[in-house]
Amino acid sequence: MLVVMHSTATAADIERVCGAITDMGFQPLPMPGAQRTTVGLVGNDRRVDGSHIEALPGVAEIIYVSSPFKQVSREWRSENTLVTIAPGVTFGGTDVPVIAGPCSVENEAQIMAAAQQVRAAGAVALRGGAFKPRSSPYSFQGMGKDGLELLQRAKRETGLAIVTEAMDEEGAQLVAEYADCIQIGARNMQNYSLLKTVGKLKKPVLLKRGMAATVQELLLSAEYILAEGNDQVILCERGVRTWDPSSRNMFDLNAIPAVQKLSHLPIVADPSHGTGVRDRVTPMARAALAAGADGLLVEVHPDPNKALSDGAQSLFPEQFGDLMRELVAIANTIGRRISAVAAR
Ligand code: PEP
Ligand code: MN
Repeated sequence: MLVVMHSTATAADIERVCGAITDMGFQPLPMPGAQRTTVGLVGNDRRVDGSHIEALPGVAEIIYVSSPFKQVSREWRSENTLVTIAPGVTFGGTDVPVIAGPCSVENEAQIMAAAQQVRAAGAVALRGGAFKPRSSPYSFQGMGKDGLELLQRAKRETGLAIVTEAMDEEGAQLVAEYADCIQIGARNMQNYSLLKTVGKLKKPVLLKRGMAATVQELLLSAEYILAEGNDQVILCERGVRTWDPSSRNMFDLNAIPAVQKLSHLPIVADPSHGTGVRDRVTPMARAALAAGADGLLVEVHPDPNKALSDGAQSLFPEQFGDLMRELVAIANTIGRRISAVAAR
């Protein structure tokens, strides 16, 4: 439930509404807006009776949020939420930041080369997993803390923001110390204790859609993070598993406008995991931007044939350079702009 206050409501009126919500056993969440304040009622998933609140001074109207996700919904907040992960790197506005880099951090030379290459091509954030969720326990599991140290060094050298995955609660605390944005991978989209943990951390979160998750389940997972007080959430479409083995996943571009209608949170697209095949990454990256994605996440490796993970879907640096030039042109025609790194 949302209590919309009149633009003339006083601080005392808002205080009184908050008190009434507390008396009902719920938590009030005042949200000052440009014109007027709204007070959200948090902590229930059933319809509550707000008739006595409606009668309080300064109250304009009561809105009952019909969707199962509340704080994530457009009903709760009509304007887009802007998520800034580093100065000049904001998701959800006109600008479209591109996050690029290898699937995994493998060694110093590899991540430094990747960082320089993606920066030269125009990316504003570097990706690279230090903790890798692999289907097989015998596959490369990531460099762990050493990988985070390397990412930090790459950031110092290039100025790129860092996006990297956390797989568990302990890892999340560590990743938060090094990264500008904590990635929650597809396999962990419904790891509710991890979602609560990152909800308590004051860091932006990139939440990837689960392999078989519906759009509603993705938004409910985001709700876990917002419910803990962190509204800095970027959603990510990365394809869903289907019966068809011709692609690693079915890249669901339909989810982009669907999510934007249902939620105020930004949504980025990951055509690398969405297709799993290098030659399909460029066409689907173009399509994702055209479909309205608020950002892109692309795997790029200095030498994809030697990659320790996801080499088959990683672009060669030159291919990424070509893609970036095309993205700039597409963005221009749809009234958006590919974010650029401020000159250093
Ligand atoms: C990744 O980004 O490298 C990754 C593991 O992605 P996902 O969780 O979408 O499979
Ligand atoms: Mn990967």
